[in-house]
Amino acid sequence: MNNAHISVIQADITTLALDAIVNAANKSLLGGGGVDGAIHRAAGPELLSACIALRGCNTGEAKMTSGYLLPARHVIHTVGPVWHGGTHGEAELLAACYRHSLELADVHQIRSIAFPCIATGVYAYPHQQAAQIAVATVADIAPTLSHVEKIIFCCFHAEDAALYQSLLKTEN
Ligand code: ADP
Repeated sequence: MNNAHISVIQADITTLALDAIVNAANKSLLGGGGVDGAIHRAAGPELLSACIALRGCNTGEAKMTSGYLLPARHVIHTVGPVWHGGTHGEAELLAACYRHSLELADVHQIRSIAFPCIATGVYAYPHQQAAQIAVATVADIAPTLSHVEKIIFCCFHAEDAALYQSLLKTEN
């Protein structure tokens, strides 16, 4: 057990030199738009080959590959829920993305990891609700991890970064 440090930055997640970055992928793991497309472009074609070998991923689950040409050593691919109004288990599935990504990271002795705002782009999860789930879930799991020391919420937009900052303040 350790006390992982949780922080927020506004950045392009593909620029971060950490042990792992998390990809908000889709079930095929074959790439897409948004952060997924950016990660595949920056990592190069070997990432797609590695993802093909994984044969997809269920919503709420997580799988890991190398980071190839990225500054990050690994990519943890997780599949967020598509927002269908909030009554289709979206909250549980989104929490599972954060939980499973962190558990997988810890198994692989990853010390530093960054998350994008999973499901809040094309998958249309409301930003405030998604941020609340992200912060609560990560704060809940962090003390149970053995190796992860640094957890970063990497927001692409200033509005998201402000949201996370205020939630983390109330969490501490
Ligand atoms: P999803 O399909 O899970 O909704 P998206 O990639 O469409 O995934 O959006 C998820 C979040 O990733 C959005 O908040 C979007 O602003 C953000 N995002 C897009 N590109 C990047 C990037 N290069 N770095 C970090 N976050 C990004």
